Amino acid sequence: MEDRKKCVDIGVHDGAIVEITESVDKTGREEIDAEENLVFPGFVDAHKHVDRALSATGERLPLANDEPNDSPTYLGEVFDSYYEETPRDILQERVVTNIRMAVESGTTHIRSHVAVDHSIGTELVDIVLDAYDETRELVDLELVLYAAGGLAEGEPNVREAIDSSQERLGEENVLLGGSIGLVGGTDSVQNVDSTLREWFELATELDIDLDVHVTPRNAAGYYALMRLAEYTLKFDYQHRVTAVHAWALAQIPEWWLTSLLEALEQNGINVITCYNSIRESMPVEQIIDSGVTLAHGTDNDQDFVYANGNADPLEAALVMSYKLIKDWHFDERYRWSETNPALGLFWQILTEESAEVLGIEAEYGVSEGSQANLVVLDEPSPQWAIIRQATRRAVVKDGQVVAKDGEICLS
Ligand SMILES: [Zn+2]
Repeated sequence: MEDRKKCVDIGVHDGAIVEITESVDKTGREEIDAEENLVFPGFVDAHKHVDRALSATGERLPLANDEPNDSPTYLGEVFDSYYEETPRDILQERVVTNIRMAVESGTTHIRSHVAVDHSIGTELVDIVLDAYDETRELVDLELVLYAAGGLAEGEPNVREAIDSSQERLGEENVLLGGSIGLVGGTDSVQNVDSTLREWFELATELDIDLDVHVTPRNAAGYYALMRLAEYTLKFDYQHRVTAVHAWALAQIPEWWLTSLLEALEQNGINVITCYNSIRESMPVEQIIDSGVTLAHGTDNDQDFVYANGNADPLEAALVMSYKLIKDWHFDERYRWSETNPALGLFWQILTEESAEVLGIEAEYGVSEGSQANLVVLDEPSPQWAIIRQATRRAVVKDGQVVAKDGEICLS
C-alpha cells in the first residue's frame, strides 16, 4: 500500500479484493485480525529449481556436501545418479514439499527452472507438472525449461518439455532457459555467440520468452551480457529476456557498468539476483535507478548444489543485508545494506520488482480489483519483518486461507 501508516480493512470475495476501507461493514465467512501488522500480496520467487530441491538428503549430514562441488562435470554425475536412483514418487513428493515450504514462507508466485537433459530426460518435467497438480491451489507457477548441456544436443527434449508444459500450465507460463558460463567455465566466452544464436532462434520460432543463467565473471560476464543485449535487439526480443545471477555487474569498472546497464535497460532485459549468488559489490540501487528491473529468487533449497536454503524470501533478505556490507570500513556507505532504505529496497525486490519480471504486475498488489493473494505478518513493516524474521500468520491464495502460522492448512 502507498501509505503504510494507515490501518484499513480488506474485503475479499470470489478470489479478488473487492473493498479497502477504514471499516468493512459486511461479515466474512472467515475473518483475520491482522492487529495493525503488515499485509502484502505475497513474495514472488523469481528463480528456483524445484526439480532438484531437497536432494541433499542424508540422515546425519547432507549428502554429497563434504567438498565444494563447483565443477560442472562433478555436478552432472551427482545429478545423473540422483535421478537414476531416486524413485519417481519420491522425486514428486520432494517437489510438492518444496512448493509447500515456499507457500508456508509467504510465497504466492514461483518461477522455476527444470532441466530436461539429465539421465531422466523429459520425465522430470512430467514429475514437476504432476507435483503442481497436487499444489495448484497454493501458488501460481511458471516453468523455464532448459538443457543444462546445451541446446545442440538437448533441443528435442526441450521442445517436447515446452509442449507438454504449455498444455498443462498455459502458454504464457512457460519459458525457454539455458546457461552461459557453466559449460566451459565461469570465465569462458568461447561459446557465447553460438549459445545465444541457438537460444534466440528457438525462442523466436516458438514465440516464447527467455530466462537464462549468465554466470561468467568479470570481463567475460560483461561481454556475455553485452552480447545478450545485442542479440535481443537483433531478434527484436525487447522486454522478453531475463538474465539470472549476472554477477559480473558487481565486478566491472564503473564506466563499463554504466554502459552495460544502459544496454540492458534499452532492451528491456530483466536481471534476477539470488541471495546465495549475490556479490558484495552488487550495485542493487544503481541497477534499479537505471530502470532495469531487478528481481530475486531463492534458487536452491537443500539440494546438491547448495545444501543451504529453506525457500524463505525473508531469510534471503536477511542474508543479502549481511552479504552487501562493504569490507571497506571507512567508506560511509559500508553499512548501507542494514539501513531502513536498504531493507525497504530488498523488500521491493522480493515483491514488486519480481512481480514485474513475471509479468503479473497488473493483478499483483493490495488494491481493489487485484487477485486476493495476501500474506499477513506479525510485524508492522518490511524492515521489522526482515530483521525479526516475521511469522507468516496467514497466507491467502485466490481468496482462500492456505497457510496459518507457517503451516499449510489445506489437506
Ligand atoms: Zn539457477
